[in-house]
Amino acid sequence: MDYELVIVGCGPGGMSAGIYAARLGLKTAIFEAKSPGGTMAIAHLVENYPGFERISGAELAEKMLAQTKKSGAEVVMEGVVGIVKGDKTFEVLTEGKNTHTAKAIILATGGEYKKLGMDGEEKFFGRGVSYCATCDGPLFRGKNVAVIGGGDTAVKAALYLSDLCKNVYLVHRRDEFRAESANVEQLKKKKNVQLFLSYIPQEIRGSDVVESLRIQALESEGAKELVVDGVFVCVGEVPMTILAKSLGIKLDEKGQIAVDDDEQTNVKGVWAVGDVTKGPRQIITACGEGTKAAIAAYSFVRSAKAPALVK
Ligand code: NAP
Repeated sequence: MDYELVIVGCGPGGMSAGIYAARLGLKTAIFEAKSPGGTMAIAHLVENYPGFERISGAELAEKMLAQTKKSGAEVVMEGVVGIVKGDKTFEVLTEGKNTHTAKAIILATGGEYKKLGMDGEEKFFGRGVSYCATCDGPLFRGKNVAVIGGGDTAVKAALYLSDLCKNVYLVHRRDEFRAESANVEQLKKKKNVQLFLSYIPQEIRGSDVVESLRIQALESEGAKELVVDGVFVCVGEVPMTILAKSLGIKLDEKGQIAVDDDEQTNVKGVWAVGDVTKGPRQIITACGEGTKAAIAAYSFVRSAKAPALVK
């Protein structure tokens, strides 16, 4: 199929780009290897997306997907395995061995869970170790779990798990949080949540399944063994940049795709939005970035200046 714009990734950034591009009249396809919505779809509760005081990530993703399809953007549930830049078009190769062409590309490939690499993490993955509280939390109902990390993902995971589990131990390597203070304050009020600040997670132990997490105090010799059935590792994401690297796209010092104010990469005709770029990694900013990229891609494809936007 020949498209004017191919978007890789159907998270909030990719879908917003799709909605704008399709409404501007570009023949647009969004390719997605997993499920639509990206990490938004597995957020238990979203409380900072304007218009929805409280909505589950899954519901917000469903609404965005319905709107994206209605706008005319084609959503193709197939991963993109390669993009080759030609003279005037890009060749897009999918995992189903299909080849498409596109005049412009928006990379909205997001990130994947960062691993800690500590002893026991790989061995017990799926046997007590998880990277997604919303996905696996219900398996630990009434049990004791540890959450590792001090960002929004960890704090929100601990909040969610505190409603399901007997005890939740939050282990963070500093005594200050990156997470929104509203979430941290909410967490501190939970009676079954205990904070272990300035502790480094060292080893996950057990025989067949997770039985404990060993943590080491940063400022003393003290170590603790937390008796837990589950360990949720919530220490951020690694940007998915394989396609970007193959296109010769420049990354920044953190390994994220470097973009300008219009989300344009160093390769003409390619934009990048959302968690694969520097952030601030919020649903609302991914949407804004997707919008900017779609408008810029329209001008590029149609050699037009500012597109006429339809409300
Ligand atoms: P993040 O903000 O990068 O936080 C990662 C946390 O893991 C940090 O506290 C970090 O500690 C810790 N960490 C990283 N490597 C570690 C290691 N090797 N050992 C021990 N601890 C380690 O990642 P995130 O929480 O996944 O959030 C990503 C982005 O999504 C952020 O911009 C966040 O605001 C956003 N988000 C927002 C919401 C929301 O509801 N608003 C929900 C989820 C995510 P240090 O603090 O010491 O570096």
